[in-house]
Amino acid sequence: MKPASESERFRLAVEAGAEITQALVREDAPTVIARRVAEALDAWECNLYEYDPQTRTLTSAAIWARELSERDVAWVGTAMSLDDRPGYVPIIQGGACVLSSVDDPDLDAADRAAMLEWGEVATLAVPLNFRDKGIVGCLTLIEKREGRRFTDEDCELVTLLAGPVAVAVRNARLFRLQQEQNRFLGSMVDTARAITSAVTLEDSLTHICRTAAEALETGECVAYEYDATHDSIAFRAFHGRDGRPSQLDEAGVYSLDDYPSDREVLRSGDVSQETLSDQKLPPDVRDSMERWGEKACLNVPLVVEGEPLGILVLIETARERVFSSAEVELARALGEQAATAIRHARLYRRGDRQNRRLAALLETSRVLASSLDAGAVLAEVRREVSGLFDVHGDAVTLLLRRGEAFVRFEPGPVAAVTGDEPAVELDDVRRRAVAGLAPAIASDDGGSRLVVPFVSGDCAEGLLEVRAAAGHETGDDEIELLQILASQAAAALANAALYRTLERQAITDGLTGLYNHRYFYERLNQEIARAQRYGLPLSLLMIDIDDFKHFNDRFGHPAGDLVLKEVGHILGSNLRAGIDIAARYGGEEFTIVLPNTARDGAQVVGTRLAHQLSSLPGAPPLNDEGAVSVSERIRVSVAASSLPGVDHATRITVSIGVACFPGAAGGPGELVRNADKALYLAKRLGKNRVEVFGD
Ligand code: GH3
Ligand code: MG
Ligand code: MG
Repeated sequence: MKPASESERFRLAVEAGAEITQALVREDAPTVIARRVAEALDAWECNLYEYDPQTRTLTSAAIWARELSERDVAWVGTAMSLDDRPGYVPIIQGGACVLSSVDDPDLDAADRAAMLEWGEVATLAVPLNFRDKGIVGCLTLIEKREGRRFTDEDCELVTLLAGPVAVAVRNARLFRLQQEQNRFLGSMVDTARAITSAVTLEDSLTHICRTAAEALETGECVAYEYDATHDSIAFRAFHGRDGRPSQLDEAGVYSLDDYPSDREVLRSGDVSQETLSDQKLPPDVRDSMERWGEKACLNVPLVVEGEPLGILVLIETARERVFSSAEVELARALGEQAATAIRHARLYRRGDRQNRRLAALLETSRVLASSLDAGAVLAEVRREVSGLFDVHGDAVTLLLRRGEAFVRFEPGPVAAVTGDEPAVELDDVRRRAVAGLAPAIASDDGGSRLVVPFVSGDCAEGLLEVRAAAGHETGDDEIELLQILASQAAAALANAALYRTLERQAITDGLTGLYNHRYFYERLNQEIARAQRYGLPLSLLMIDIDDFKHFNDRFGHPAGDLVLKEVGHILGSNLRAGIDIAARYGGEEFTIVLPNTARDGAQVVGTRLAHQLSSLPGAPPLNDEGAVSVSERIRVSVAASSLPGVDHATRITVSIGVACFPGAAGGPGELVRNADKALYLAKRLGKNRVEVFGD
């Protein structure tokens, strides 16, 4: 539909993808998404629908259009059943990209009526697929301008964008949900504070203990909080006539294995009384009462909606006594207050942790979305995870897929994967995460390991592994959090990979794989500046294939292209990798920049100064071979090469012009002109030879 080049379109898609991932942090996320997709496709309008599989309904989440009518605005929020719009079935249930045009005779009648009603001439719809959650919605692009149609390439591009959109739609939904939950928790905490007018759980419980001890005239009252994970109770608050509580040891944590009757109180939810002289007293109770010097106890379970939260114990050490039913009722009522205080405190603790995590997550998603560098993405994920889990950076491992194997990501000054890392052994839990595309946990005595895959399409592109210390219970919320992080990291990594490809394309010559003309000048300028800074030499080679027009005429252009490729290959293999710069200057001409290379090697290499300068940090390495010798080697290699389909008598040869810096040249332009003049001389003197400017 639009004339922009393929790589331009991809660039737009990458930008749109990055902004879409970022849209999570914005209130108007769906509208931002719709706008970016419409713009990337140069379409009239884009609708974003969320799909609910339970009710089989599509709900309009956002519309962006070049001109938005009142009717369009009103459409947002409208739900439509899949049964009423069969046109959407192949998209939502078939997972297909569907192109429709109003003049297509096969178009469903209901869908045509809807298109005519809205003045649409063409539409393109793609499903939004979110990993294991399946299809979470769809994107519909609409064209209202006459004569405009969508193409298969448009389809491909929108499908590419559907990944980040699906992630953003789900993240935005999760974000809204967590915000609501936090508001709810906030008001709960406020209510709790108003009731008890106390700030901490300890304050509330101490207050309740004093009230209970005074009302029931007991010597002491102690409050314990129940820990279901360890099936233990922990000391929380105390009030006593004589100051120190009788029932307390150092840690204040008691396993219910040692106090089975307390376990029974919590399980039954009934208040129980104990007096030391009671013949039917269970032995564990008698032991503990004797140990702590207690004569009578009243145990009040703190239970809300069947959930055991703690125990309130009223203790008399001075004398034995039986609590009346009125006293028991009073203790029970105070127990309800204590239970409420514990429950609110727990909600608050969770809310507080969630708030901190949410804030951290938002910050990470901002960093991830704006980063087009895979190393930076992974470093941020590692930093974030060690913060969230409160573990040292070493406890977080990142593995990245390299073909069939996985390699370890090591952050450093150059935080990246170089491709030379050894493959890492995948143990059972890692293999489960890769195969199941889902989190996997392994526990042993030393702690637990949680492994979450970075999923892209239906492939685990990486693994995020957290080692938690012994005793840490990995909660569902933590797994969910890591999954969100991993999905964002996967999208960011895909963006970064796409960006790298584009970057590489932008500086590469498509036919030979060498650098292109633009990048050659960029690097020539840089290298000359570097040579000036360090006072080092630099040589430039200008290479032209001899009688190439004649070769093309005789063997055809495709054979000529093969020659260009072959010459490009020979140039590359005769240079210092990562130091010398070979480019296709244009047509059948090539250039080579040789940093820290003089006309003749021995001339410079012999001097101590050259060695000293070359060892400065940032200086290009000294070339012990001179530019003339490199040129000769290239000339001979080309002349010795043979090509399939070309008779043996036909030799490919090149002429090479060499110019040296500083020499007679003051800057890049002059250096190129000098090399060109030397090349011209080489041609005039019979071709297949090397000439040096100024000789
Ligand atoms: P000389 O020895 O003086 O360099 O003669 P020449 O024929 O090589 O030089 P000239 O500049 O007259 O012709 C260059 C030819 O290179 C013309 C063109 O057909 C061919 N050429 C340029 N680019 C390509 C290409 O991408 N593929 C092919 N097959 N040929 C190309
Ligand atoms: Mg030529
Ligand atoms: Mg030429």
